[in-house]
Amino acid sequence: MKDNSYIAERIKAMSATLPEGVTLIAVSKYHPVEAIRTAYDAGHREFGESKAQDLVIKHQELPKDIRWHFIGHLQSNKIKYIAPFIHLIHSIDTFKLLQEVDKQGAKTGRRIPCLLQIHIAQEESKFGFTPQECMEMLEEGQWRLLQNVEIRGLMCMASNTEDKEQIASEFSTVQRLFKVIKERFFTGNESFSILSAGMSDDYPIAIEHGSTHIRIGSGIFIE
Ligand SMILES: *Cc1c(COP(=O)(O)O)cnc(C)c1O
Repeated sequence: MKDNSYIAERIKAMSATLPEGVTLIAVSKYHPVEAIRTAYDAGHREFGESKAQDLVIKHQELPKDIRWHFIGHLQSNKIKYIAPFIHLIHSIDTFKLLQEVDKQGAKTGRRIPCLLQIHIAQEESKFGFTPQECMEMLEEGQWRLLQNVEIRGLMCMASNTEDKEQIASEFSTVQRLFKVIKERFFTGNESFSILSAGMSDDYPIAIEHGSTHIRIGSGIFIE
């Protein structure tokens, strides 16, 4: 059997360096159930997946107190499979998708926690609202009628670049947007409090810019 003990060591070492209030999400996409179980047995409970089909299988096979984060591009027809158990959907990128999640939340009797994904990276390929689109959607106000979703904050991915200044400027843009949105639409609402930013290569910069949830895949699971 493969020795997975490095996984638990990585999580422990990384957790020890994180400021209080920062949640480490172990992104287990592409990695087998046994790798996740090693982390679970070491006490870790927050895991992220990017494909609904994989997530459903892993949820079935693993302990039910795992908090599953959905971080990939979500197709409307897949929401129903994860709606009954998903802890947080990080990747709401259209109002229509938010409405669809609301519909499935109603069916399963839950108010599903969601983040709005903001597109700040230079790559076209990445999903999300531009800051302006996000403001317009919130200004429009229809989201206030949705009873079975709860907007808990924002998520973003920085450009895939070596240029640290560029990355810092992108995270800083989202940090400012987070503050503006909180003040304008969620004053006095404690639950709008999550900024999901930072991956293996850029999480220290994200934390400097207010990240509360970092999503670490290769830094934990690749030996
Ligand atoms: C894969 C993925 C991650 C983790 O990336 P690493 O560079 O492996 O840490 C984080 N966020 C999203 C949205 C991802 O798809």
